[in-house]
Amino acid sequence: MKKVLILGGGFAGVEAAIFLKKESEDYEITLVSNRDYFYIFPTSIWVPTGESKFSDVCVDVKDLQAAHGFNLVIDDVEEISAKRGEVRLKSGTILNDYGQLIIAMGASKMKHKGIENTLSICGAPEQSLLLKDKVDEMIAKGSGNICFGFGGNPNDSSAVRGGPGFELLFNVHNLLKKKGIRDKYNLTFFAPMAEPGKRMGPQALKMMDKFFGMLNIDQHFGKKITSFEEDGIIFEDDSKLDSDFTMFIPAGDGHDVIKASDLPLNEAGFIKIDDHCMVEFSHKDTFCDGEDMSRPHNIYAIGDIAALEGYDWRAKQGHIAEVMARNVAHNITERNKGGVSFKGYHEHINILCVMDSGDGASFVYRDDKKAFMIPMPIFGHWLKKGWGVYCRYSKLGKIPRIPGM
Ligand SMILES: Cc1cc2nc3c(=O)[nH]c(=O)nc-3n(C[C@H](O)[C@H](O)[C@H](O)COP(=O)(O)OP(=O)(O)OC[C@H]3O[C@@H](n4cnc5c(N)ncnc54)[C@H](O)[C@@H]3O)c2cc1C
Repeated sequence: MKKVLILGGGFAGVEAAIFLKKESEDYEITLVSNRDYFYIFPTSIWVPTGESKFSDVCVDVKDLQAAHGFNLVIDDVEEISAKRGEVRLKSGTILNDYGQLIIAMGASKMKHKGIENTLSICGAPEQSLLLKDKVDEMIAKGSGNICFGFGGNPNDSSAVRGGPGFELLFNVHNLLKKKGIRDKYNLTFFAPMAEPGKRMGPQALKMMDKFFGMLNIDQHFGKKITSFEEDGIIFEDDSKLDSDFTMFIPAGDGHDVIKASDLPLNEAGFIKIDDHCMVEFSHKDTFCDGEDMSRPHNIYAIGDIAALEGYDWRAKQGHIAEVMARNVAHNITERNKGGVSFKGYHEHINILCVMDSGDGASFVYRDDKKAFMIPMPIFGHWLKKGWGVYCRYSKLGKIPRIPGM
């Protein structure tokens, strides 16, 4: 049996476990996750408006384990030593008996002053429930200022995540409209960059501007955020945006455990990898046995935890995390066979999302040749809902996988 240790039970880690088992039954896989559920982040945008329940976007990791036959450890990874070949868990367990290590624990978040006065749809999953409470509280109040936004990471532009912020605000707009009380609330979208959403391409940027106008949502762009207060957001020029309900998505930052490790990192703390997702050590690094770490080895990093290379519009996304995972499953098998036909992720870099608005959606796509946004009234909303169902049941092996999805 070839032993593979996977750290993280999100899009990247679960996909790697599934596809290693598809490659060969000969793999003994152990997956470590600090959550006992796999969280379908893209469809969590409907929890705050009550359209989905929290349980609708969770898949029990034990059910995934039963479907795919991997070992499961629910625990926190507290330390990784690449040189010693060791992973230490919160329980004190040391994991060092593995042939291959796949690191897939996602990202931490930038820490802003006063962040405790905000909630995030991209933070800990439980925050979606707190967001629901806040939406309900605002509706009960009958009027108020609602401000949603996102921030950047100056050290890594790929770690910015704005899409779910747009989606949630459009959904809240629609909920208030359905209740006939939309005119009682001021809705504002804020971001420190002058053109948030620019990475989706020029056409999408124009369309977003049009949407904001049509939905009577104010835009507050181009001013750096200084801090968050209980009743508003303070900007670099000391101006204040009054807010009774602030939803803010801080940009991703290197995972705290990774920042404290001996892994090679970019400026933001994401793990440096090559095109095949193998961790890219420098030729000066050596393992404990004296082996040069810059030569092919057994440590891979995939998903949001990895430093994504490529176009300046590149973004950390779930489908890229899954491409990386499938590639690593293939590459490990190929290396075991002594082959050289490895798969890379660079050629798959694109932006792909169905941006929901509650009463429809827009299909957003960008690669190195084209960028477009296509409105999909009504149907788009149900398409995204359908994807959520597909995601759950295909991962559980109950329905066939569509190639590439
Ligand atoms: C609201 C929202 C909407 C999104 N919509 C889209 C979309 O429409 N399309 C798209 O492509 N992408 C979307 N994304 C991005 C996508 O969800 C991420 O890119 C994806 O989740 C990254 O997968 P990952 O496995 O690298 O990280 P994660 O999904 O964050 O998984 C990390 C895993 O590691 C575990 N973990 C973390 N730390 C530890 C530790 N110390 N010890 C043990 N386990 C640990 C976590 O519990 C988790 O299971 C969205 C993200 C959000 C938040």
